[in-house]
Amino acid sequence: MHQLQQILGLTQSELVSFVPELGEPSYRGRQLFANLHRRRIQTFDGMTDLPKELRAKLADHATAASLAIESRFISADGTRRYLMKTRDGRPVETVFIPEEHRDTICFSSQSGCPLQCSFCLTAQLGLLRSLTAGEIVEQIIVALNDAYGPGIQPPRGTNLVGMGAGEPFLNFDELMKALRVMAEPDGLHIVPNRVTVSTAGIVPRIKELANIADRPHLAISLAAPNDELRNQLMPINKKWPLKELLAACKEFEQSLKPHERFTFEYVMLDGVNDSDEHARQLANLLNRHGLRAKVNLIPHNPAEQLPYHTSPPERVESFKSILEAKGVNAFVRRPRGVDIYAACGQLAACGGATIQSLQSRA
Ligand code: SAH
Repeated sequence: MHQLQQILGLTQSELVSFVPELGEPSYRGRQLFANLHRRRIQTFDGMTDLPKELRAKLADHATAASLAIESRFISADGTRRYLMKTRDGRPVETVFIPEEHRDTICFSSQSGCPLQCSFCLTAQLGLLRSLTAGEIVEQIIVALNDAYGPGIQPPRGTNLVGMGAGEPFLNFDELMKALRVMAEPDGLHIVPNRVTVSTAGIVPRIKELANIADRPHLAISLAAPNDELRNQLMPINKKWPLKELLAACKEFEQSLKPHERFTFEYVMLDGVNDSDEHARQLANLLNRHGLRAKVNLIPHNPAEQLPYHTSPPERVESFKSILEAKGVNAFVRRPRGVDIYAACGQLAACGGATIQSLQSRA
């Protein structure tokens, strides 16, 4: 069988160039784009405004969907986690997080992850492979269709966070392509300003992002205020230590508008990186580099396979007050979907069995 063309990762103008290859007039490309992205139709058969012969021809040459949903988990807090498989059997996880104002979808950029952060469950999968732009876009389509109903528009728009499995900046080109496709006004129309991408600190890509005009917001996972500890928790620090990372952050900050901020994420590990002294070091580090970023404190989401515990709430509060006393804006993030392994650092392609064992311990 010939290879089917994955058309979800194509922009509208690329689709307009694609349909003449099938002997069709180019306006069919615009119709197809609206069917795929605005109406979020996942089968050619369902695209009833296209002639039957064209639908059959498309099905012969292309595919409108390539991810198969394996399981869907719904948390007590309403968060939904989708465990999907690519055509070649790789796991992909996506999380839908209902929020008071605007709902958020957390997507994955890779199947598994090559970085070996010691506090993150995804690391235990290793890198299976990077996802294509189409597979990134499709995650959003699947989550939107399930949360709101097929083709129904989210009432207040959608925020996206690239904080699922994988290191987005090690899949930079496909990520940026997916963001361009999703921004199209005739499609999903989720503009980069509604998107935040998180990196463990791939320095050259942070600098590259600084020079891109239409770009997502940036978050950087820090987890430690000094190189010694960060080397242990996030081995990527040996390649790009804090000095280089923060210099790149400064460069990025200089490209922001005066009111804009970027974010540092700091996972709080009980007795490891959460002392008052760590808080002082962190504030001094950011102040020394003259960074006006804000810090999101993320209480560690535990898992049986991880050797850490969550910092007690009073520890987190004390850490936060020290940062604030030294002029650093800090916020405590509320974990979502912990009971279904949907929270930060919990995406490990696990299914019902793990969740049941988690619940039976509760
Ligand atoms: N690789 C990227 C994208 C993943 S984002 C990055 O590292 O930024 C996932 C966020 O969750 C990161 O900030 C990470 O530090 C945090 N995290 C990882 N494991 C966690 C855990 N078990 N509990 C809480 N946060 C965790």
